Amino acid sequence: MTNKNGENENDNEDDFDEVYTGIWNGEEDVCESCEHDECSWHPESSMFLCDLCAPWVGISLRRTEQIPYGVLEITQRSPDVFQEIRNLITDNASTKRREGHWFSGRVPQPRNEEGWLEFLQWILGKTDELERVKTAIEMRESTIGTSESVTGIRHQIINQCEIGDDTIIEDGWGTWVNGVLFGPDAHDMHFHNTAILPQLLFDRYHGLDHRPIEEMAYAYQKGPWLNQIRETTSARIPTTPALRELVTRIANGDLGNIAAERFHAASVIWAVHVEREFQTCPRVPWAASFRGVHQIARENEGRVRFEDDGIYIDATSKNLYRIAPTNDRSDGFEVRQYARLDNDRTPPICIHTSGDPHELEMPMGDIIASLVLALLDDIESSAHIHTLRRHITPDLLPSERPGWGDERVRRRAMRRRALRDARRARFEGYLPWGDYFGEEE
Ligand SMILES: [Zn+2]
Repeated sequence: MTNKNGENENDNEDDFDEVYTGIWNGEEDVCESCEHDECSWHPESSMFLCDLCAPWVGISLRRTEQIPYGVLEITQRSPDVFQEIRNLITDNASTKRREGHWFSGRVPQPRNEEGWLEFLQWILGKTDELERVKTAIEMRESTIGTSESVTGIRHQIINQCEIGDDTIIEDGWGTWVNGVLFGPDAHDMHFHNTAILPQLLFDRYHGLDHRPIEEMAYAYQKGPWLNQIRETTSARIPTTPALRELVTRIANGDLGNIAAERFHAASVIWAVHVEREFQTCPRVPWAASFRGVHQIARENEGRVRFEDDGIYIDATSKNLYRIAPTNDRSDGFEVRQYARLDNDRTPPICIHTSGDPHELEMPMGDIIASLVLALLDDIESSAHIHTLRRHITPDLLPSERPGWGDERVRRRAMRRRALRDARRARFEGYLPWGDYFGEEE
């Protein structure tokens, strides 16, 4: 729908047809993010947006700009593949400290070659391609500490003229392998990087790869997909050339569209908090979530203001807070307290989502709506968002925390609230550390 080429209209987006027809006729009438009927053109996002959505959409587009649109859009194009891969990873990836091959986090990410192998097995099933890669990895592990390991071969290149059947000559031009020059003076880019030589010679020495040297050098370069994984995710990039090559071929579609879609789905899950970004969150819940924020603003007339730089909130304590989008990969928002008369403001107040599973799949607007509600009633919220307490005049603070005797009453109140607020996120501030070190941030 927001496809910059203006081509894609997919079946899930029927609800939006009217909106887009309007836009393409040049009659900009609603916000392209939430359908609010007052909006204006925002050149930096190339969209019609309302005052509320403009800063959030703008920063979200920046947060995701490193990933090609065709990849990001997979969540809209193939929601089933996307969900399948997400479940597959969260259900199967072991993040156990010792034997786990995955980093823990919002979504597990491969932390070594074995983690990658597991992942490729899930998306490819059993194939010869994978067997070949397994052998290459096992051979590397089983030769560690010997002169036939990758490191051993790196040393041999310096001292020896022959490694297996290959002849190595070093001269003023660079390193010649069977007459092929590697080094900055080589005529082709793929031979500039001599760092690939130990891996390449290892594979030849152990009979793992029989292609001509030129072809191997070409295949062993990191492709753009691996660079994208490195720049946008926390996954560790594979080091075994055969594994890198297979990943690149899958991403390029050489092993079929299904495998490519699955791979790209994973790369989006690892790089992006899907529900918090405009381009990846399913459209309908995204729009509804931001309409929820408009609703809260209407119900609290005059106390919630949408500005270019975020949402300003007049709290019950008479404090003025601003919620603003941030460019980082954590929660994607920050809260500061502002002075009423000038532009003086505090450093960001330590407020984070609690990270409950139900929160992880909440659209950004629901997180914002919950935060607006929490800040409107900052005195009550300070009972659980402890970092708000220091911003509130002491005599306004609730006099006592609920004692043990009140536990039952408190629980009942919480349950009531939970029922009412199925779409409400919870927030917390990490007080002990904040207090201990003085300033928060
Ligand atoms: Zn909007």
